[in-house]
Amino acid sequence: MRGSTFHAPTLDLLDGIGAAKAMIGQGIVAPRMQYRSRNQGIIADFDFGVLSDVTRHPFRLQCEQFKLTRILHSMLTDKPGFSIRFDARVAGCTDHGDAVEVLLENGEKITGSYVIGADGARSPIRKSSNIEFEGFTWPERFLVLSTPFDFATLIPGLADVSYYADPEEWFFLLKVPGVWRAMFPVPAEVEDEETMTDDYARARFARIVQGRDDYPIRHRTLYRVHQRVAKTFRQGRVMLAGDAAHINNPLGGMGLNGGVHDAFNLAGKLAQVWHGEGGEELLDLYDRQRRGVTVEHVQRQTIANKQNLEAKEPEAQRAFRERMADTAADPAKAHAYLMGVSMINGLRRAAEIR
Ligand SMILES: Cc1cc2nc3c(=O)[nH]c(=O)nc-3n(C[C@H](O)[C@H](O)[C@H](O)COP(=O)(O)OP(=O)(O)OC[C@H]3O[C@@H](n4cnc5c(N)ncnc54)[C@H](O)[C@@H]3O)c2cc1C
Repeated sequence: MRGSTFHAPTLDLLDGIGAAKAMIGQGIVAPRMQYRSRNQGIIADFDFGVLSDVTRHPFRLQCEQFKLTRILHSMLTDKPGFSIRFDARVAGCTDHGDAVEVLLENGEKITGSYVIGADGARSPIRKSSNIEFEGFTWPERFLVLSTPFDFATLIPGLADVSYYADPEEWFFLLKVPGVWRAMFPVPAEVEDEETMTDDYARARFARIVQGRDDYPIRHRTLYRVHQRVAKTFRQGRVMLAGDAAHINNPLGGMGLNGGVHDAFNLAGKLAQVWHGEGGEELLDLYDRQRRGVTVEHVQRQTIANKQNLEAKEPEAQRAFRERMADTAADPAKAHAYLMGVSMINGLRRAAEIR
């Protein structure tokens, strides 16, 4: 399941190619987002409706990534020139200067003008191009437990997207079609196998509502969490996009959205180069724009999101809670804050980079 949050400007982009309506039809429109604490209840309640002056989709859409992939696939199948091959693992690529050759694990070679490595965090395209993946890995892992139990029946006023700040163990609750996803940090010293046990799940669930730990579990998944950005998003005839180019912790739901923003930016420029309407320097502009905002906005914001939720010092906790409460209570401040959270600022900044 992994990515399941689509932000407003991503929906605006997808709407431009006719994909947003089907997504919205298969997802949950979440108009609000909350910060909460276990002892204080709601710290701040944000309404994405304040963004209706800058987006046609002033909400978060909770919809699993695989649904978008299927929608895009069905839109493409009858387009001339489109083909997709499953069961064809890529081993790497070689840039020959005038063409690029992709090697499949079965030994087959495919030659083309360009290759876009959108092959995930372990990207063989990135690795075989010797592009460094700079950054770090957090010591803790994240455990996602999905349950069909409806937390809104137990927690009054619970928003579909709710982050709980807590000095002992922060967590977040996210509603997606059919289940709630609860995500918890797992300390480095806990073995992977232990996190998959019912006892471990119950101890995590017990933190959500006192006296309850018995929610049925539909999925349990443990993730390693990284903050890494490729040294370049373009090297010769090789381009990187999505997790192949950048990975971050999932607090704020920015990884998949950033990948879609990469795709729109790159596709537009590559089409211009292909049709002879622009030179290859446009591909370097893709790197400057998308890598630039990935470092300036996405990495910075997701690291701050994690640090705010896990803050242990009473002073830091108090400052975060007061700042969020004050921001949510003032429509102008809430507007400015949600412009960053929903990644509108990031896209605008990318467009300014020359
Ligand atoms: C718990 C969790 C929750 C998250 N929630 C959100 C969220 O709500 N919103 C958000 O924006 N982001 C979220 N993310 C991040 C998001 O999941 C990723 O950013 C997103 O999935 C990246 O998409 P991608 O297509 O670039 O890479 P992937 O989804 O990893 O896809 C890579 C593709 O390449 C293929 N591939 C890999 N290797 C090869 C090979 N050798 N040959 C051929 N094909 C290959 C794979 O089969 C796959 O189809 C979350 C991440 C986690 C861990």
